[in-house]
Amino acid sequence: MTSSYFRPSVDAMTGYTPGEQPKPGTKIIKLNTNENPYPPSPKAMEVLRTLDGEWLRRYPNPYGDDFRHSVSQVFDIPHDWVIVGNGSDEILNVIIRACTDNTSKIVYPTPTYVLYRTLAEIQPTQVVEISYNDDFSLPIEPLINAQGAVTFIASPNSPSGHLVPINDLRQLATQLSGVLLIDEAYVDFAQSSALPLVKEFPNVMILRTLSKGYSLAGLRLGFGIANPQLLSGLFKVKDSYNIDAIACAVGTAAMLDQEYKNECARQVKVSRVQLAQNLEELGFKVWKSQANFLLVQPQTADAEALYLGLKAKGILVRYFKQPGLADKLRITVGKDEQNQILLTTLAGLMED
Ligand SMILES: *Cc1c(COP(=O)(O)O)cnc(C)c1O
Repeated sequence: MTSSYFRPSVDAMTGYTPGEQPKPGTKIIKLNTNENPYPPSPKAMEVLRTLDGEWLRRYPNPYGDDFRHSVSQVFDIPHDWVIVGNGSDEILNVIIRACTDNTSKIVYPTPTYVLYRTLAEIQPTQVVEISYNDDFSLPIEPLINAQGAVTFIASPNSPSGHLVPINDLRQLATQLSGVLLIDEAYVDFAQSSALPLVKEFPNVMILRTLSKGYSLAGLRLGFGIANPQLLSGLFKVKDSYNIDAIACAVGTAAMLDQEYKNECARQVKVSRVQLAQNLEELGFKVWKSQANFLLVQPQTADAEALYLGLKAKGILVRYFKQPGLADKLRITVGKDEQNQILLTTLAGLMED
């Protein structure tokens, strides 16, 4: 037997399995990874088309300063309260690396974004997973008692779509000694944000992404908002040029075009209500969602069989083969015509 070249923690981990990504242009209805069905802002695409080669010849600004200033303008916070990442996934990784060692813990309620576990497993840190209550209310006491160096809360959460009430988050922030990271990847489709907490608490960071609300998952741009003291350690740990010049320029234009983003999000929310109602009529249990997807449970059919049946007909949805989720599907809200094809296909599969 050859011995492994890897650290024991790397040997022991399974690694993250991203949702399937068929080649662009493949004739498929893709409702599995919560992308926005609408195109990016025309203003962002114009910046991409007219980009000067000089921008690429040089190294980019190490902090994505143009983008930080656009965030500052839109959210009315100083630009030095913003850290920019190569996707918000990078910021999750940086915060774990900056805040934990082998004596500390990463804590989060489950089910949630699976990547938290993957990123924590790479590092010599402990992971404490605490089950959500059955109604997806936050298990506040157990989360506090777990004493995480970092506690992750996704709100709206994936795959459930529920929003965590700001007062629950406030209570957590008050009682945690470590960092509370509130992952608002889906906030553009929700009715409220926990952003005010960053001004109230030195240990709170809000994480955002351009991947969902801004239709820019391929660009890889995310950002965190927190006081400069909390960000200072993260700046030491991140790659020196983590934001490429293209992402910074295109992302800045997209951030400043709030009107376009809000209109796309409004349309998705209208479609979400319609899709939820239609799925209920088809006999699914549908959880209330503040995100651009729905967690659903077929009452008379097998979830995995439906997932496979849809896939065979060119429709991708997300199926998680894990405790608590194996009888459910997570379905991204698409354009109305895509949702309609999904519903017709599901009805056909359930008749068989
Ligand atoms: C999609 C998603 C992200 C990842 O965002 P990127 O900016 O594309 O890395 C982070 N957190 C949650 C909960 C997500 O669903």
